[in-house]
Amino acid sequence: MLIVKKFGGSSVADKERIYHVAQRCIEDYRKGNDVVVVLSAMGDTTDQLIAKAKEINPNPSKREMDMLLATGEQTSVALMSMAMGAMGIPSVSLNAYQVTMHTSSAYGNARFKRIDTERIWHELDSRKLVVVTGFQGVNKYDDLTTLGRGGSDTTAVALAAALKADACEIYTDVEGIYTADPRVVPNARKLKEITYEEMLELATLGARVLHNRSVEMAKKYGVQLVVRSSLNTAEGTIVKEEVDVESMLISGVAVDKNTARIAVIGVKDTPGTAFKIFNILGKHNINVDIIIQSIGREGTKDISFTVAREDVEEVLALLNEHKSRITAQHIESDMTVAKVSVVGAGMQSNPGVAAKMFEAIYNAGINIRMIATSEIRVTVLLDEVDADKAMRAVHNRFIED
Ligand code: ADP
Ligand code: ASP
Ligand code: MG
Repeated sequence: MLIVKKFGGSSVADKERIYHVAQRCIEDYRKGNDVVVVLSAMGDTTDQLIAKAKEINPNPSKREMDMLLATGEQTSVALMSMAMGAMGIPSVSLNAYQVTMHTSSAYGNARFKRIDTERIWHELDSRKLVVVTGFQGVNKYDDLTTLGRGGSDTTAVALAAALKADACEIYTDVEGIYTADPRVVPNARKLKEITYEEMLELATLGARVLHNRSVEMAKKYGVQLVVRSSLNTAEGTIVKEEVDVESMLISGVAVDKNTARIAVIGVKDTPGTAFKIFNILGKHNINVDIIIQSIGREGTKDISFTVAREDVEEVLALLNEHKSRITAQHIESDMTVAKVSVVGAGMQSNPGVAAKMFEAIYNAGINIRMIATSEIRVTVLLDEVDADKAMRAVHNRFIED
């Protein structure tokens, strides 16, 4: 068997954890398997590197930022390979450049294009444990790129797809995928299985247990994932195409605090305004989620939408630059909001999910500011201070009842 095993930052945070992970990988190796290990940076290294950069330059170039952040993963793979060496097992650490994991050129938000597998096969053929950096790639200028926060999951899935691995295991600091973040909702339940589609929604809506692109890629290439604990051997959660229908209406609740509301006030109520606004943002790769357009009055209307907080500055600059072309009177931003979502394939055939969610939020005395729905999710925007309370209320209403 060829197994890809990915360990997140907390799973390799210190010497003891590194040895523990090495031990787990060696167990699979000794059974005769080929083992490729993907690692994140140790503990909160990535946050620390970002803080260091900001001390030097509050607005560093994205290229240099990726050059810096890529060192975090390089440290962990080198140390891991040293630990394996100390345990008498032949191993080799490789960064994105050495494997060659080709990505698009978008620094800080790169996407995989192609992965060369020769070097990895060569190392596996000589019976080495192969330890690869997560989160990074190489673009057409031979520069290092990164995949966005949490991107090591995507490296693992991309490698599993490219190597046609028999298993792709994501090890983390919780025992699997739960009906809500178990750190915020203590009575959240661990799911046995979840579909790609539902997990993709949950990941996109704030459940950071998996990077959303990793789920997208797993679905595209049919890579079955298992998410489980790096600390114990409890059975984890399987992410796959179809699951046994459970009686639960929804599979999970998620909170996303990395969200901000932008309001474009007083634009002309004429055809083409929304197109102009979102075309500008699209061209700059800015993801927009909930969009609301008010009813026109006296020839003008307002358009509000949500974006990730790190994009706010750029969005404001872009819209102000094009203020007259988009006919806006003024543009506002609000960084004190959060999204709470319920996700579940079951809601397609069960009307009333939205009403049930709104009732739970109403009973908790919380005001809803915006709403968005799709076939398998309902999302509300509310004040950030209310987000965790709203999540618990919604979770209790759906999962406990
Ligand atoms: P890693 O460093 O291993 O990639 P992350 O911090 O990225 O770990 O992801 C794991 C965390 O995701 C958990 O500690 C948990 O707090 C959070 N989380 C959010 N939503 C969920 C969920 N639905 N199920 C499990 N964990 C979740
Ligand atoms: N180290 C990176 C981050 O903190 C990637 C990852 O952990 O997946 O975002
Ligand atoms: Mg992660």
